[in-house]
Amino acid sequence: MEIVKTAIEFFFSTALFINALLFIPQTYRIIKEKTEKGVSLVTFCGFFLINLAIVLHAMVRADYVLLAGYIFSLITCGSVVLAILFYRFFRKSNAVNVTLEDVLDQIPGHVYWKDRVGVCLGSSRNNYEDFGLKNLNEFVGKTDYDLFSAEEADKLKLIDEEVMRTGETKVLEESLKNSSGEAVIYLSSKSPLKNSKGDIVGVIGVSMNITEAKQAVHEQLNMLEEIIAVMPGNVYWMDKQGVYLGANDNEARSIGLHSRKEIVGKRNVDIKNFVIPEALDPVNEKVLSSGKPVTAEEPAILKDGNQAVFLSSKVPLYNQKNEIIGLVGVSFDITQRKQQEQELLRAKEVAEIASKVKSEFIQNMEHDIRTPFVGVYGVVDLLARKESDPEKKELLEEATLCAKELLEYCDGILEFSRVESESLPLTSKSFDLHKLINSVLNIEILTARKKTLDLLLEYNETLPKIIMGDVFRLKRVLLNLVSNAIKFTKSGSVKLHVELERSEVSARQCIVRFNVSDTGIGIPEDKKNLIFERFSRLSPSNKGLYKGLGLGLSIVKRFVEDMGGDIHVESAMGEGSQFVILLPFKLPLSDDIIDAE
Ligand code: ADP
Repeated sequence: MEIVKTAIEFFFSTALFINALLFIPQTYRIIKEKTEKGVSLVTFCGFFLINLAIVLHAMVRADYVLLAGYIFSLITCGSVVLAILFYRFFRKSNAVNVTLEDVLDQIPGHVYWKDRVGVCLGSSRNNYEDFGLKNLNEFVGKTDYDLFSAEEADKLKLIDEEVMRTGETKVLEESLKNSSGEAVIYLSSKSPLKNSKGDIVGVIGVSMNITEAKQAVHEQLNMLEEIIAVMPGNVYWMDKQGVYLGANDNEARSIGLHSRKEIVGKRNVDIKNFVIPEALDPVNEKVLSSGKPVTAEEPAILKDGNQAVFLSSKVPLYNQKNEIIGLVGVSFDITQRKQQEQELLRAKEVAEIASKVKSEFIQNMEHDIRTPFVGVYGVVDLLARKESDPEKKELLEEATLCAKELLEYCDGILEFSRVESESLPLTSKSFDLHKLINSVLNIEILTARKKTLDLLLEYNETLPKIIMGDVFRLKRVLLNLVSNAIKFTKSGSVKLHVELERSEVSARQCIVRFNVSDTGIGIPEDKKNLIFERFSRLSPSNKGLYKGLGLGLSIVKRFVEDMGGDIHVESAMGEGSQFVILLPFKLPLSDDIIDAE
C-alpha cells in the first residue's frame, strides 16, 4: 500500500515538475517576441492560484515534496503571469505592439504564399477578403483553380512553376477578374518560398492593384494619340532602318491609307506612288547619321497624281542611352506657295524689264526731246527779243514762257530718273549747319516775298556748329520741303525750326530735328502717306492750281532714309502742315576741317 502511495506521489511530483518546466518556454517566448499576445492572462492566473492553493495545502499538511514541486510550479507560472502583466501594462505605453498577424491584417496590397503544388498556405487579410472569403481558414487549402477561372489559373500556375524552377523573383503585370467579375490589373512580384534550410517549398507573392493608375496612363496615352492624329501638317516617325512606326491622319490620307496604323512597317519604297524615295531617303539618312535636324523641300506625288512640294523638318529620336533610334518629321504642303513665289518672281522680272524700258525711255528723252526743245526755246527766245512789232513780240514772249515751263518739266523728270537709276554715293563731309540752312533760305526768300509770306528761321544755339553728313542730300531735302511749304501756302508764314534732338558725345554722334511748318492748305489725314509716293499729287495739274510733278517728296523720303533718318508729316486741313525730320550726324574731331560750305 505504501509502495502504491509512493508511486502515485512520485508520478504526480514528476508531472508537477514537467508542468512547471513547461511554463519556462512560455515565459521565454513572451520575452523573446516582446508581446503577451496569444497567451491568456486569465488562464495563467488560474494556474497560479491553483498552485498557490496547493502550496498552502501542502504547508498545512507538511507535505514537503508536494510543497517543493508546487513552489517551483508557482515560480515558473508566476514568471509567465509577470511577463504577461509586464508586456500588457508597462510596455504598452512606450512600445509599438504589432504582431506579424496585425501586419498581415493591414498590409496594403495582397500577400499570399502557396506550397509547391499551388495550395494556398496563407495570405494577408486584404487578399482573402478580395475573394469574398471571411477568414484565413477559408483561404488556406484552396488553389488558384478555386479562386480564378481555369484559364487564369493555368497562367498563374505556369508563372509559379517558373519561379520555383529558376529560384528567381519575377515581376509582372497580371490581368485578372476579381470576385465581382471586374477586370483588375495587378503588378505582382513572385519569389520562391524557402524554408529555414533554404529549400524551395513554394511561392510567395505580393500583388498591387494598379488598375486605376493604368487607366490614368491609358487615358493620357489616348489623349496623346488623339493629339498626334489631328496634328496639322503631315507627321510621321520611323526607326533607324527607315521603317515607319507611326503617322498622323494627314500623312495617312496623303499616302492613300485608310488608317494611320496601316503605315506601321512600311518603308518609302512601299509607298512610292506618293513619295519619291530617291529624294526622301538621303534626307532621312542625313538626319540619322548626323544626329542633327534637317529642313528641306521635298518633292511628292499627290493622290490625284499631281506633283507637289513639301517643306519638311526632321529631327532625330533618341533612346534613354542617348542613342539615335529613328527620326520624327513634319511636312507641310507648300506647292501653292511655291507657285505663288514663282509667279511673283516672274512678275518681278517683268516689272524690272518695264522699269528698265521706262528708264531708257526717260534717258532717251534728254536726247530725243529735251535737246531739240532747248533749240526751239532758244530760237523762240531770240525771236522774241529781236521782234519790234509789239503784238508779235507779246505772242513770242508767251511762247518762250510756255517753252520754259515745258523745259523745267522735262528737267524735273530727268532729274528724278537720274536719282532713281544712279545710286548716288552717300558722302560724309563736315559742314557748318547754320550756314547751310541760311543758304537754303536765301534761295527761297524771293519766292516767299513774292507771295508776301514770312520765311522764318528758329535755330537752336545748342546745336553743334560743325557736323558731318551728306550735305548734298540734306540741302536737297530742305530745299524741297521749304519750296513745297511756300508753294502750298497762300498767306501767313513758312518756318524752319532746327534743334538738337540728342547728342552722344562719346559715340561722336548727334541727332538733329528739322521742322518745316507752314500755314498753308494742309494735307488730309488719309493722304499723309500717299504724298511720299512717286508721281502723287493731291491737287492734279489739270485743276491748274499748283504746278509740280509729284516727285519731290518721294526723293526727299528716299534721301532721308539714305541718311539713316526718319520723316513724317503732321497736318490739319486748312491749318497748315509740318514736316518733321530726324537725322543722325557725326560729330567731327576738334581738328576736323570743314569740307563743305
Ligand atoms: P510736287 O510738289 O511736285 O507736286 P511733291 O512730291 O513735292 O510733288 O509733293 C506731292 C504732293 O504733296 C503735292 O502735290 C501736294 O499735294 C502735297 N504737299 C507737299 N507738301 C505740301 C505742303 N507743305 N502743304 C500741302 N500739301 C503738300
